[in-house]
Amino acid sequence: MAKNNGPVCRLCRRDGIKLFLKGERCFTDKCAIERRAYAPGQHGQRSGRKPTEYAVQLREKQKVKRIYGVLERQFRRYFGLAERMKGVTGENLLQILERRFDNVVYRMGLATSRAEARHLVRHGHFTVNGRKNTIPASLLKQGDVVQVKEKARKSPWLQKAFESAERHGVPEWLKLEKDKFSAAFLAYPMRDQLTLPINEQLIVELYSK
Ligand code: SF4
Repeated sequence: MAKNNGPVCRLCRRDGIKLFLKGERCFTDKCAIERRAYAPGQHGQRSGRKPTEYAVQLREKQKVKRIYGVLERQFRRYFGLAERMKGVTGENLLQILERRFDNVVYRMGLATSRAEARHLVRHGHFTVNGRKNTIPASLLKQGDVVQVKEKARKSPWLQKAFESAERHGVPEWLKLEKDKFSAAFLAYPMRDQLTLPINEQLIVELYSK
């Protein structure tokens, strides 16, 4: 995936919410949103015109793409997949995003951000069901087990990550077994378990135009 090399805090300020793109810093008072809760740029503090319906829908989609670190083409592909699944398209879309390997590593608490999780996955620090997997975008299934590879278990990042996981907790659809350096993907998360401030219906409306 193409990298966003720009200052990521600007993205949060643009969307007006915390997107948690910078790991531990997001939980401190150094967070840019805490200090400057207005849009970036020269005109950021102006109240401006009321956004159009299209602008609101577009912004929601951009926000979700930024949260999960997904580019447009792939996001479209996920949307197509979500439409073909049974159930509510918007909820299916979020479920697919949650199934991404990098997201699961982040949710396990083994990385402080999804960007860091992507980096760790690419460097081959994990196995899925005992097999090496270096593809952050691969979609995990119910019952899959993610494990830290033997070589990486003594790494300082892992110790730090476990401490952070204890502080922030692990979602109920994952079962973290710290002594085995692994987590099982117990179930696909339900919408009410995802507390992210997302209105997925706006994305469905945008793509249905
Ligand atoms: Fe967003 Fe984190 Fe930066 Fe705060 S510190 S603005 S939550 S990326």
